[in-house]
Amino acid sequence: PRPLQRSHLQGHLPWPGPCHRRLSVDNAVVAADDGCDGGHAAVCTGAQAAVGRRLRPPRPRVPSPPLPPAPAPSPPRQAPPPHALSGRAARAKPARARQLNTHNPGADASLCGMAATGASGTNAVRYGAMRPNVLNLRVVLPDGRLLHTAGPGRHPRKRAAGYDLTSLFVGSEGTLGFLTQATLRLHPLPEASAVTIASFPSVGAAVACTVQVLQAAVPVARIEFLDEVMADACSRFSEMELPVAATLLLELHGSQRSLAEQQQQTEEIVHQNGGSSVAWAEGQEERERLWSMRHNAWYAALALRPGCQGYSTDVCVPISRLPDVVVETKQDLQASNITGPMVGHVGDGNFHCILVFNSQDPEEAQRIHAFTERLGRRALAAGGTCTGEHGVGLGKRALLQEELGPEGLDTLRSIKAALDPHNLMNPGKVL
Ligand SMILES: Cc1cc2nc3c(=O)[nH]c(=O)nc-3n(C[C@H](O)[C@H](O)[C@H](O)COP(=O)(O)OP(=O)(O)OC[C@H]3O[C@@H](n4cnc5c(N)ncnc54)[C@H](O)[C@@H]3O)c2cc1C
Repeated sequence: PRPLQRSHLQGHLPWPGPCHRRLSVDNAVVAADDGCDGGHAAVCTGAQAAVGRRLRPPRPRVPSPPLPPAPAPSPPRQAPPPHALSGRAARAKPARARQLNTHNPGADASLCGMAATGASGTNAVRYGAMRPNVLNLRVVLPDGRLLHTAGPGRHPRKRAAGYDLTSLFVGSEGTLGFLTQATLRLHPLPEASAVTIASFPSVGAAVACTVQVLQAAVPVARIEFLDEVMADACSRFSEMELPVAATLLLELHGSQRSLAEQQQQTEEIVHQNGGSSVAWAEGQEERERLWSMRHNAWYAALALRPGCQGYSTDVCVPISRLPDVVVETKQDLQASNITGPMVGHVGDGNFHCILVFNSQDPEEAQRIHAFTERLGRRALAAGGTCTGEHGVGLGKRALLQEELGPEGLDTLRSIKAALDPHNLMNPGKVL
């Protein structure tokens, strides 16, 4: 059968009922590596979707270099074919188009992999990360029992019945059980969307603009930051003519009428921060062209140093501390002589550095390692977390300890020992 990817589902789920209903996708056993902070311990592969198709083919294992390996660049994602879903979902009459909460992590992430890492993406600022969007999980526990984290067949919009097992397994990084089915919340597609690109005189101005857009309660759907290195790389990679400047991509969703008001508010804030924006793109093709530039950021970064390795690290801080942390990180990158374009879901206080380095050079690998530790500690000092979406994996275990303190870590260890006393599941990861 044709491989079914998460992206194929997006926007192609006809759903006759009320807005927030469920979608179940089976995922019969665990995924392998990804190539960022969280994804380095392969387990095994082989996934099926409920509609009876492979979710994705097994990925080959990659030997570990000094830093966690990154995936080989794969071609940019294809637009999903309109007939991507078969079976009952595809035959149902569309009352109104709905979408999966449109996270867009690594190009070939699986749904249960996204739940396992607590993933998110550009839309999380409006629609939330994976955790609030997962209503139930079917999990194979280490002793072989089958657990439904919210009870079999249940998908209430909210619940207060006992400990929140769904949240426990979201972000557990394969250390507590195999996620084999996820029941997800769907969101209605907005009547209208508009995207703009704004350029700013400095990184600080772009991030300050983000903070003000949020403080003004503009219901922004995506607000993505690119520093000038990333903007230049993306511009060249995608053959667009963007200024070499700190850049924000902003997307607004709403009714036609509310959109006009949001656009005006956003433009005012952009201008107050010394930014200049291009005309709003409202047509689907135009919007997709802008976003595909952003989604190719990883490949654009790798193209800065052909033949080198990429390593993506992320942190997340309270929005109020974001401008300071981003500016300090930028200075650190420059002082450390590291090629590390910055890109971020800044609406959530989350940003990434894509570190491109020569893994054959131990001195450079060591510099990268020291930088990521400093970055993690900078986020912790600002009241944030060492990872907003990539997870702890192997590389951030020491930072997790600093983040939670001994009591927090002991509690995690107790949970792990209770569920997996023989340490079968991703041993050594997270803890
Ligand atoms: C270029 C690039 C961009 C990225 N951008 C983002 C981003 O914007 N947002 C984001 O959140 N992440 C991002 N990531 C990280 C990554 O794509 C996500 O963490 C994604 O959720 C991983 O899903 P996967 O299916 O590929 O899982 P894998 O990478 O294969 O596995 C990740 C971890 O989850 C475990 N796991 C996987 N499947 C299961 C399962 N069914 N049950 C139990 N454990 C499982 C694995 O054992 C492993 O520990 C990015 C990565 C790359 C390389």
